[in-house]
Amino acid sequence: MSKFRIDPNIVLEKDLNLKAIEAIRVFQLHPITQKYWALGGTSGWLGTNTTTIKKCPDGVGEFQHYVNGSIYYHPSTGAHEVHGLIRARWSSLGWERSFLGYPKTDETKTLDGIGRYNHFQGGSIFWSPSTGAWEVHGSIRNKYSSLGWERSFLRYPLTNETTCPDGVGRFNHFQGGSIYWSPSTGAHEVHGLIRSHWASLGWERSFLGYPISDELVVFDGAARISHFQHGSIYWSSTAGVRVLRERVRVHVKILETPTSFTINEQFAAMQEVYAVAGIRVDCASTENLNIPSLNDVDVGGCTMGSVTSEQTTLFGNRNFVGTDDVVVYYVRSTVPGYNGCAAHPSGRPGCVVVRSASRWTLGHEFGHVLGIHHVNNNNRLMTGNGTFNITNPPPDLTSGESSTMRSSNLTIPL
Ligand SMILES: [Zn+2]
Repeated sequence: MSKFRIDPNIVLEKDLNLKAIEAIRVFQLHPITQKYWALGGTSGWLGTNTTTIKKCPDGVGEFQHYVNGSIYYHPSTGAHEVHGLIRARWSSLGWERSFLGYPKTDETKTLDGIGRYNHFQGGSIFWSPSTGAWEVHGSIRNKYSSLGWERSFLRYPLTNETTCPDGVGRFNHFQGGSIYWSPSTGAHEVHGLIRSHWASLGWERSFLGYPISDELVVFDGAARISHFQHGSIYWSSTAGVRVLRERVRVHVKILETPTSFTINEQFAAMQEVYAVAGIRVDCASTENLNIPSLNDVDVGGCTMGSVTSEQTTLFGNRNFVGTDDVVVYYVRSTVPGYNGCAAHPSGRPGCVVVRSASRWTLGHEFGHVLGIHHVNNNNRLMTGNGTFNITNPPPDLTSGESSTMRSSNLTIPL
């Protein structure tokens, strides 16, 4: 068999059956040799062999080294070439005996057209001209893949998977961010100004701990948030970066759908202001209520600590609502007519907001529920002149108002 060899440059006679010749070739040649010839053989970029075909230490796989690379074969992966800096990285990790195992692909151009990669049984090595070659594997690789590999905002890895300084978790840094994993939190990306701030606090060793979410859009708006084990980091162009260490849990009960601003717009506005106070706004549930008799709800004088029988009935609708949760009831109107009213029965914290309310009414009414009062200043959330008259959105919260809100029993430490 060793003497049987087909020269791919042979000029075949016209009546020879090419497929038959190919079949003979496939049956006769070692898969490593087939791959070598498929890549050009002695005149290809691999160059001439520097070893014979040898068994790997596992006794199953085989390899052959060439001047410019190697071909590795295993029955479950087939034969694939590795070369250059990707091969050097694989070598540095321990070749096929490392967690990467055998190559599952040849070195392949990335879809962005800039870099190269090999997939292996246990991970991948990505290379680009400006970053070099680094491995990604396991849950971190799955996250990287789910985001779109090098075409995502992360672009190329800048490190191998590395143990965190706390000795618990693992991370890869990338050009556009990082992916952090720990056994209890899984793998999540963190990037941009949120990542910078987390880094400035001490990464996973900070009070925030590990990320428990990717960076998320806040209530369909322009702001972004990443959740961590013990808090969140919020970013918007107007509020900047804010660490949120408390939360308020809100349930939405809809008798009449808002008409001026969507519920998401009102929540996004509330979160924007509350972020300044370090409070996260969680929307825990949304429920439609069909109670026509309360669509125009009698709120009396809308005085804190005093409610009408209609308010008592309305605030009795508490499906899904936990002890420290708050509820907003969207109605058509109040009688007399207000944008909203924060008076609520004892032990049933919440507010009423009318469907035509302003963007800021929700946050304003919950400000009352959390213990802050009217001011005569249209730059501030708690203006007593109506939130439609706010002059410099987003409206301000003072540090005193913020600390009052944080000390409410309804804001829960994260
Ligand atoms: Zn008010």
